[in-house]
Amino acid sequence: MVGINSSDHDRGLCDEPDVPNNTPRAVVESSPAHCRCCGSAMEIHEMNSLGMQQAGMYRLICPVCPSEEERREAQRAEILRVAKEIAAPHGLAAELFPGIQSVGVGGDERTYSPVVNLVGPFPGLETLDLISREISGRTPVNRVTFQITAKP
Ligand SMILES: [Zn+2]
Repeated sequence: MVGINSSDHDRGLCDEPDVPNNTPRAVVESSPAHCRCCGSAMEIHEMNSLGMQQAGMYRLICPVCPSEEERREAQRAEILRVAKEIAAPHGLAAELFPGIQSVGVGGDERTYSPVVNLVGPFPGLETLDLISREISGRTPVNRVTFQITAKP
């Protein structure tokens, strides 16, 4: 489908098929499932594990929506943009710890989000509190740190 704006991929529907999880393979082979995000016919991919393949398991992947990796990268970029925008007026830089996710709780499920690290002259605890509240309010981030170590 044409004209899907990248923000449309934030609804958690990319690669979500419009059929139940355990739909037999023969069913989606004869009548393709459709992506709940963009409506495209979904492709059947083999599982990596031979055992799962033999059990008849398969994965449905949308050929149009960005991959999970691409979505995660896009989310990190957006979080960083917002964090920088919030930190800058207080003379602080913001970065995301590479490869580190913080565990939180959203509803009944664990959520994982990047950790924002603030770097610069200590602005006082009240200001740090303000910044961390604004960052966690405007993004899925659940942990903001302030760097004390002087080494870059
Ligand atoms: Zn899609």
